[in-house]
Amino acid sequence: MNPIRVTEVHLGDEEEKLVLEVLRSGHLAQGPVVARLEAGFCDLVGTAHAVAVSSGTAALQLGLRAAGIGRGVEVITSPFTFVATLSAILDVGATARFADVGDDLCVDPGSVAGLVNDHTAAILPVHLFGLPADLPALERIAQAHRLRLVEDAAQAHGAVVADRAAGSWDIGCFSLYATKNVTTGEGGVVTTDDDDVADRLRLLRNQGMRERYRYEVVGTNARLTDLQAAVGVAQMGRLPAYAAARAANAARLLDGLAGTPGLALPSVPAGRTHAWHQFTVRVLPDARLDRTALAAALAADGVETGVYYPRLAWKYACFAEHPGVVPDPTPKAAAAAAQVLSLPVHPHLTGGDLDRVVDAVRRHLG
Ligand SMILES: *Cc1c(COP(=O)(O)O)cnc(C)c1O
Repeated sequence: MNPIRVTEVHLGDEEEKLVLEVLRSGHLAQGPVVARLEAGFCDLVGTAHAVAVSSGTAALQLGLRAAGIGRGVEVITSPFTFVATLSAILDVGATARFADVGDDLCVDPGSVAGLVNDHTAAILPVHLFGLPADLPALERIAQAHRLRLVEDAAQAHGAVVADRAAGSWDIGCFSLYATKNVTTGEGGVVTTDDDDVADRLRLLRNQGMRERYRYEVVGTNARLTDLQAAVGVAQMGRLPAYAAARAANAARLLDGLAGTPGLALPSVPAGRTHAWHQFTVRVLPDARLDRTALAAALAADGVETGVYYPRLAWKYACFAEHPGVVPDPTPKAAAAAAQVLSLPVHPHLTGGDLDRVVDAVRRHLG
């Protein structure tokens, strides 16, 4: 039987056509197609500005820098995330503080509030697996203490909280990496309504240059290319259908796996829509197989799974020993890292694939 992958990327005629147009135009670097992709993100997120950059990591780094976050201030984030969330904070010279997560696996606003002090400059929630964090509660904390709200929306294209898109709450950072819900291979986008932040982002990504050889800030080269953006424009066109397919697949998995002993299923709090970048279950201590054994049994059945992420982001010597890392205790995040397992939910699964996933999990844990 053919293996069922945990991620699958399909590129089609529209991507080919747009890439060919760029190739034939002879204009490969940042140009009109990047602008088209940015306009698509403004539409999706509902912000006045979208600034395309070379990666999701660059989006986080430049988003923080454009907000004036740097040396001497603290950023409160989730320890249960991809490493780039943390490395971006350290890259700009700020100190990382870690709030614990709630049942949604995103930062718990109560824990965030407990870490705010005179040095805090920003809250950086991660919309893990595509489920947006409790942004209304985080926004209230940010406004009460005059903090920036920088969203790691790398996995949350099209997700919504309280009728507002993820990425629209202050400064939104998206990834367009190969496996993300919208891809350009490598790439990122920062979304914001703040004119000054958008202006600084456009300078920072382009060597700090306002016009030819007029430098205003020390910038970098974090530009996206028109060649990459051509793939992204086509992918944006597919997003509504793909998002609907992910949601339908998730509903089918939730239904099929309900009541499986030893398994906790993801849930979506009221008022939020999940982008279902990953469908992540928790293998509980009383399960018949532990996570490693379950993943191996599923692999033998041709069902690929993923562990995102096996450790807290700072639990590696290079981060744990870093002067910018404060090892705040986060027991719920630590427990989650030990239990999570992501099952296939991507938009190219067939009904038969989903049945196979459900049957295999139930058979091994039932
Ligand atoms: C993918 C990802 C990033 C980084 O994006 P890149 O495009 O790979 O640089 C940051 N944060 C999270 C949560 C991600 O999933």
